[in-house]
Amino acid sequence: MKDTFGRTVDYLRFSLTKRCQLTCPHCAKNEGGCLKESEMKTDTVIRLSRLFGECGFRKIRFTGGEPLLRNDICEIISAVSDMPFYDDIALTTNGQLLALLASDLKQSGLHRVNISLNTLNAQRSKEMFGADLSNTFSGIEAVFRHGLTPLKINTVILKGQNDDEIADFIALAHEYPLTVRFIELMPMGDSKEEGISGAQILRMYPQLLPVENKADGVAMNYRESNAKGTVGFINPISSCFCDSCSRMRLTADGTLRPCLGNNLEIPLVDVMYNNDLIKQRIQDAVRQKPCKNSFSKAFITNRTMNNLGG
Ligand code: SAM
Repeated sequence: MKDTFGRTVDYLRFSLTKRCQLTCPHCAKNEGGCLKESEMKTDTVIRLSRLFGECGFRKIRFTGGEPLLRNDICEIISAVSDMPFYDDIALTTNGQLLALLASDLKQSGLHRVNISLNTLNAQRSKEMFGADLSNTFSGIEAVFRHGLTPLKINTVILKGQNDDEIADFIALAHEYPLTVRFIELMPMGDSKEEGISGAQILRMYPQLLPVENKADGVAMNYRESNAKGTVGFINPISSCFCDSCSRMRLTADGTLRPCLGNNLEIPLVDVMYNNDLIKQRIQDAVRQKPCKNSFSKAFITNRTMNNLGG
């Protein structure tokens, strides 16, 4: 579908749950209502995925919260991969349960995963994020073993908290055939964290050279010479990519969110019983997609990322 600014909007980021077992300071905040019982049922998730496909969506990413906490995740992926719509079926995860599920996810039809990883230090991982680093690395191994590639590692650098590890993340992309993507911190909810811009990191590491056709979706990719992998920069704050944004978000509580950096929301909950009305709302939401995010104004979003769907 085209929006009013001529952009094709065909990429759905579907949040399956607000629940997450981690405590990332820039992301997680339990705003209540994070009960498993209040989540969309399996058949609703599948029906909505089909309706988005019928509206012209061609890429789908399941996120959250932590999507692998849903017991029906493979059932959902399997149903979506049987649909004739989606060229790209992906999932964003903290990786904690990935080693256990990678084989089933691949068999269900999942194409690839992005793993969020904000530290390479086991103690910091436990203390700051509540994550067991060995689980994340077993997950990374499983991704390669089962071909859920190309693998992207999402990293948010927080001033004074993990900014001493930037070189280690660049080294990870040197050693393994994956992309480490530094994502600029976005002002979500009442988070007090401070981020570091992509340009600041690039100034510190001049050995990172732009790869040919460096724009890959929303990321700008760089590489050290002789590295197996690449380093990407996603800079929603310092240089927004709104002109080419193709995304629509659906939150776990059934609300359409046309732009992450704008609090406009269109609910689906009151029309959930009627497929035609749902499709109308999807079309309305595409039409109302703002031209540009509001991050450059003193703006914070009304929801934290785990409640929105990262
Ligand atoms: N639980 C999954 C995970 O950990 O990847 C998926 C959901 S999480 C909300 C998705 C991504 O959003 C993570 O990579 C996380 O670091 C990122 N994120 C959360 N809050 C953010 C913020 N304020 N600014 C930038 N990225 C953020």
